[in-house]
Amino acid sequence: MLLFSSVSFAQKKTNFVVVLDAGHGGKDAGARGVADLEKNIALDVVLRFGSLIEKNHPDVKVVYTRKTDVFLELYERTRISNDNKANLFISVHCNSAKNTSAYGTETFVMGLNRMSETDEVSRAENSVIFLEKDQARYEKFNPKDPEAVIAFEIMNAAYKEQSIRFADLVETKFTKEQGRHSRGVKQANFHVLRGNASPSVLVELGFISNHDEGTYLASNEGKQASTESLYKAFKEYKKEFDRRSGIIEEDEKPKAKPVEKPLEGKALKIKFLETTLKYTVTAPQLKGLTDVEIVQDGNKYIYYYGNTNLQSRADDLLNSVKRKGFNKAEIVEFDLNKKLEGQKNYRVLFMSSNKKYKERDERFNGLSNVLRVKNGGMFNYYFGIDKTLDAAQKTLEAVQKKGFRNAFIVTFNGEEPM
Ligand SMILES: [Zn+2]
Repeated sequence: MLLFSSVSFAQKKTNFVVVLDAGHGGKDAGARGVADLEKNIALDVVLRFGSLIEKNHPDVKVVYTRKTDVFLELYERTRISNDNKANLFISVHCNSAKNTSAYGTETFVMGLNRMSETDEVSRAENSVIFLEKDQARYEKFNPKDPEAVIAFEIMNAAYKEQSIRFADLVETKFTKEQGRHSRGVKQANFHVLRGNASPSVLVELGFISNHDEGTYLASNEGKQASTESLYKAFKEYKKEFDRRSGIIEEDEKPKAKPVEKPLEGKALKIKFLETTLKYTVTAPQLKGLTDVEIVQDGNKYIYYYGNTNLQSRADDLLNSVKRKGFNKAEIVEFDLNKKLEGQKNYRVLFMSSNKKYKERDERFNGLSNVLRVKNGGMFNYYFGIDKTLDAAQKTLEAVQKKGFRNAFIVTFNGEEPM
């Protein structure tokens, strides 16, 4: 039985591509920490970070250089970024030092100044090249060749300001939100950043060679906190990007915003769950969504949230439902005034009991003309008979006001539930 036409609307147009690069992988383990390998921590944080962006920014395309424990040459990471026309490239790593008391976060942008400290880090992060087949690829660039340096600086300058801005946001979130120690924003000559045609940073989440920091970063708590700091930096960066691009968020729009025309005779609802199980409106499976509407469709129950005739409002509701973890949620359009054909009608199921009650039982709280239908060893009690969904919804509201909060609409053929 098909009750309603289901229409899902396209998500907002993509206007931003972020490439997330989990450092190392496969045969290249990166640094060996006190509790876990660099490649594992980096991948875990990148996957969490990416799904957080995907969940909250339908207009952002997230590209991963790797989603599993595989080896990837550095130039491949850059190629993935450029092929996808990245707006931002974020490479995630963990630090390590012989001095096990070293700790703190740092974020690098591409640069050529050779400080001894960053040289140690860039040597470590670049050392993977010796595991790669095609080492000659990296020798094209010689930092001692003045011409190569000039060409590099010209390309790099275009993205440097934005790279530094993002790096700065990352370090600020690490310190302000997470209480971490920041070693600051630095420049270094990283192969993985060099060829990128986009703002690019390399984040060192902390020193996994340090006992405390290494244990923290390998823990769920440490990885989640690091992810959230990265995400908050991203969110702010993206907001600035949108401002520059002339995209203004809904809540920032000036009064001149055109009045949206409501859809006539239609209702938009968020369908977020479809199961053979019937939950009560306060069940934990509904994750705290209130005013949930439940519709029985054959042996399935369909759960809807919200009710609006504004498309923009429906989009907002959809996003909020997705943020609750209902990733398959979609907008469904209802034709409120469409009449059911023939003997079909809508009734509201408000009570199920193994007891047989008579018409006008006091338990019905004043509902009259109640239809009793035997279903296995149970009796279902229905109220109302409507031909349009609009009318059925009004009946449902009236029934709920009588105290039957779990009531829902069922389609009938004559006096038989369909
Ligand atoms: Zn690394």
